[in-house]
Amino acid sequence: MDLYFDNAATTRLSERALEAYIRTEREFFANPSSVHREGRKAKEELERIRESMAGMLGVKSGNLFFTSGATESIGAFFSSLLWMEPGKAITSRIEHEALSSWLPILGKQGWKCETVRSRKGSVKKEDLKELLTPDTKLVSVMAVSNVSGEIEDIKGLCECVREYESSLRHRILFFSDSVQALGKIPYSLTELGIDGASFSAHKINGPRGIGLLYLRNPGSFRSLAPAGGQEGGKRGGTENLPAIAAFEEAAKQWLLNAEENQRKAKEINTMLRRGLQEAGLEILSSENSSNYILLLSTPFPSEVFVRMLSDRGISASSGSACSNNAKGESERIMQAMGIRQDKAGNAVRISISNDTGKEDAEHLVKTVKEIINGR
Ligand code: PLP
Repeated sequence: MDLYFDNAATTRLSERALEAYIRTEREFFANPSSVHREGRKAKEELERIRESMAGMLGVKSGNLFFTSGATESIGAFFSSLLWMEPGKAITSRIEHEALSSWLPILGKQGWKCETVRSRKGSVKKEDLKELLTPDTKLVSVMAVSNVSGEIEDIKGLCECVREYESSLRHRILFFSDSVQALGKIPYSLTELGIDGASFSAHKINGPRGIGLLYLRNPGSFRSLAPAGGQEGGKRGGTENLPAIAAFEEAAKQWLLNAEENQRKAKEINTMLRRGLQEAGLEILSSENSSNYILLLSTPFPSEVFVRMLSDRGISASSGSACSNNAKGESERIMQAMGIRQDKAGNAVRISISNDTGKEDAEHLVKTVKEIINGR
């Protein structure tokens, strides 16, 4: 029995998303920028999907821009800062490399980059407040950690920035990498009041290589890569319409049934927490974590335990698996979360999706017990 528990790295493409991909590739093959009838048909389909995604996210279609994934969405947002007069950028210490890799670039361009600590993975308002100064122009905190699943209080953090900003003459941009939040926790862009967010299709059973950038105020956003003016000049390049259609289909499955999906994920998470603890593993994810991610400390070095699971047909990962430097990255983030080095070195991440069943969770617990008991 082969079981997949590495859904925070990527999920399996759903059948419906695959069908949408194939249908769109066949029916809407033309370039949405072409002015002939086929091109206009493709453009109409693209805008229909944008409306549909906007409806699901509770925003206007003019605020959404398709990209090649969250890495590009983050890159588009952060590179746009290079047009501005430099100021202070505050980011959390637990950000994904897609975001943290921008800090040296900003630094080189004269930005003062500071990081706000995260206590046990959670960024506190009081710690953020201490760093806010009149030259602050950007605050960026991810919505859900891809390593531990910790859910950050984005609404509270953003409110605290808005309060501070009221004494200034400029707006402080608030960005939140929301890849691991979409469909997996209650999440409302309008309620959060943030200025930008990144999303990725392949974390919700959509295809790889397609993502979304949300901009609260697109008018004030200036891209470094407008190229042919596609996506309102925010992201140049021919739109990947079949992947966009598959993203919509995947998003429907996750967002239109979010409550039920999350209730089922909670049941599985509870089973896993209980069973894996009984098996002798330590749960490192706090209770305030996404039900889709569980970080554990095992009695073995991470790679050894991941290998033992893999030999028994179970895919899991040692922390974050979505980087070529996954181990180093996860350990950096775990250190920032205050996890002791010996525990971080033995950490394993289990991540589920909506296609994970209770029987899969039972099988995982049974296998872990066998490994720990040396069978
Ligand atoms: N941000 C987070 C929190 C992630 O988990 C990932 C996953 O790899 C990314 C960004 C990058 O997403 P993408 O693969 O769509 O570029």
